[in-house]
Amino acid sequence: MILHDQHVHSLFSEDSEEDLKKYYLKAKKLGCQYFITTEHVDLDIAGMGVDWLADFNELKEVLNNIKESDGPIPLLGIELGYRKDLKDKLLKIIKQHDFDLINLSIHDSGTMDYYFIEGFKEKGLKNTIRLYYEQMLEAVENWNDFNVLSHINYGYKTIYNYDPLYDFFSDIEIIKKILIVLIQKNKALEINTKVADDLPIENTIGLLELYKELGGSRITISSDAHELSRYLENFDKYVNIVKEIGFKYLCYFIKGEEKHFYL
Ligand SMILES: [Zn+2]
Ligand SMILES: [Zn+2]
Repeated sequence: MILHDQHVHSLFSEDSEEDLKKYYLKAKKLGCQYFITTEHVDLDIAGMGVDWLADFNELKEVLNNIKESDGPIPLLGIELGYRKDLKDKLLKIIKQHDFDLINLSIHDSGTMDYYFIEGFKEKGLKNTIRLYYEQMLEAVENWNDFNVLSHINYGYKTIYNYDPLYDFFSDIEIIKKILIVLIQKNKALEINTKVADDLPIENTIGLLELYKELGGSRITISSDAHELSRYLENFDKYVNIVKEIGFKYLCYFIKGEEKHFYL
């Protein structure tokens, strides 16, 4: 048995065209016991002014239709794009469904998406990074309805494009604060292989070592697949890193309950 991917987008997300059934069959072929997608909920997206809101009722129906008796058990997940000003609306959405897994993400500030370089140029690198981490710290401190903090280093590809010599460790104090809150609240930290693959490996290793040093033990490894070819992509590489640093298991979630997959 191998552990299923816990950050996956299908055509239920606005930025993916991938067929849900193809993912399911791949998970089955690889020997996963469970199958989950984490479709986007990002409201009032900066620069676009639109809502990305997956139709979870339809998703549940499709999951029910594609499941096979000898295949993985389907679970319901979500990637929740958090912003403080959207709290009430987000709360309403997550109360409508019985999610197995909630991945919490910081994607935009309300005026800029941290994925794009324009905002960094406009506000300056240091200021934007500070804004990003302060928003993340506020999120983990004040929002409790999540299991995993996704891609803590979401903006770093852009940061390195902006300044290839940027030192990840110069933000260590606020990153520490975020990790400490995660640890205190028993929330997991995601290693997002899509983001990590675009960054120097020292970034991921440094982050994991710091997390371990602070007492963290809850990790997920997820691909953030938007197409089939990336499902569980590069897991072996990151599993080896995680093991080498001394983590004993990876986490997964069923009805919000934490389970352990021993390495
Ligand atoms: Zn994301
Ligand atoms: Zn995602």
